[in-house]
Amino acid sequence: MKPNEARVAVLGGAVAGLAAAHGLVDAEGITEIRVFERQEYDTKRVDCGEAINDATLVPLEKTAENGFLNDVEGFQLRVYSGRDREFDDPPLETSDLRCDPGYVCDRNTVERQWARSLAEDGVAFETGRSVSPDEYRRIVEAYDYVVDATGQPSLTHKATDAVDEYTGDMVALNATVDGEFGEYLRYPRIFFEGYVGYSWSFPKSERTANVGIGWAGDRRPDDYMNAFEAAARRNGFPVPDRSDVNVYTIPRGPSLDPRRTHRPADGVFLVGDAAGIANRYQGEGICQAIWSSYLLAESIEAGRVSEYPERLFEAMRPEYRLAHLMRGAWVEHEDPELLAAVAKSLEGLSIDDVTRRPRRVFRRIVRNPTVAGRLVADSGMLRRIVDSYTDTWEYAR
Ligand SMILES: Cc1cc2nc3c(=O)[nH]c(=O)nc-3n(C[C@H](O)[C@H](O)[C@H](O)COP(=O)(O)OP(=O)(O)OC[C@H]3O[C@@H](n4cnc5c(N)ncnc54)[C@H](O)[C@@H]3O)c2cc1C
Repeated sequence: MKPNEARVAVLGGAVAGLAAAHGLVDAEGITEIRVFERQEYDTKRVDCGEAINDATLVPLEKTAENGFLNDVEGFQLRVYSGRDREFDDPPLETSDLRCDPGYVCDRNTVERQWARSLAEDGVAFETGRSVSPDEYRRIVEAYDYVVDATGQPSLTHKATDAVDEYTGDMVALNATVDGEFGEYLRYPRIFFEGYVGYSWSFPKSERTANVGIGWAGDRRPDDYMNAFEAAARRNGFPVPDRSDVNVYTIPRGPSLDPRRTHRPADGVFLVGDAAGIANRYQGEGICQAIWSSYLLAESIEAGRVSEYPERLFEAMRPEYRLAHLMRGAWVEHEDPELLAAVAKSLEGLSIDDVTRRPRRVFRRIVRNPTVAGRLVADSGMLRRIVDSYTDTWEYAR
């Protein structure tokens, strides 16, 4: 049924929440959209890698004033033998992945400008105050649709005592640094060095970059800060000042099972990180957040909102599948030479291909039968292949 005079509350006003408001602002029958955001848009709010792989999803002109700083051509994967090496040891392989619609942004500016433009279009904003679990329940009662865009762990999970849906965590550190980045301005670098995770240096201009490191596995260093500084020295990006470094513990999950993560009966729908859809392998989540919100908005407008959880799952399935397998190549093998060969086989594909087009990736890998054979000659990888094609994701257990 199409909405008739429906009111929408959006909890969380970062990329997912803003995209939900944008997707609904002109929808027939929506009389009110109110965004509840705990922070203010004029202060520093977010800090992540700030790479948006498909900037066309954000309906703003791609100018520096709107936060779109570096119009990248792609990203370069650099695979090394491990961490125990000198600064000038060459990588085992490099692989350039294309990303025509990609930008490295100033996300604070992007979100501030997007919110400003939505406010001009009539979206109401309540900022600077966190929605409590009690208030959440009142909002759920009062509004026809509630979009939970509060990130991880979501307010819905907190308010319904369901945080045990989250099955672990990963750690990431990042900072913005000054340096010389002209050499790889158009191809920001991602460094794989034999642990489950990676470090990155994403220039925003010739003189500044967002740099970071993350560990997705259980074996993490004891001292994150030292590990970050050592990665900076090895990989030739500036060592950040400790006071500028943000440390994130990112809950892993929630379950990807649509029946467990959404509450259509209450009119509550999770989008973006709240729905746990950021990529499980490389951590990208901005575009996924925006897509999920556009999909939800489209489902509301079409009067088919109860189908949203299933449609989201279907839309994300190739990405879940590929992430499960790509992560397996790292976790099950821990063989930098093999990973280097895999990375090389992906040369010239786009970020979109290597993130959500399993067939394109497989076609590249089987061109080298030795690499393909070594990859699957492992019981862990075989189990992952079966799991992937029976939708038995690690976090659904
Ligand atoms: C270190 C790091 C680097 C990353 N790098 C990249 C990258 O380069 N590219 C990429 O695509 N992804 C990256 N990601 C992932 C990306 O940041 C997330 O996937 C993305 O931010 C998800 O957006 P979201 O809007 O769903 O949630 P969030 O960005 O988490 O936003 C949630 C919003 O809800 C608000 N909120 C929360 N609780 C409440 C409450 N109770 N009341 C009111 N408001 C509330 C918060 O203030 C926040 O504004 C990175 C993540 C990390 C940690």
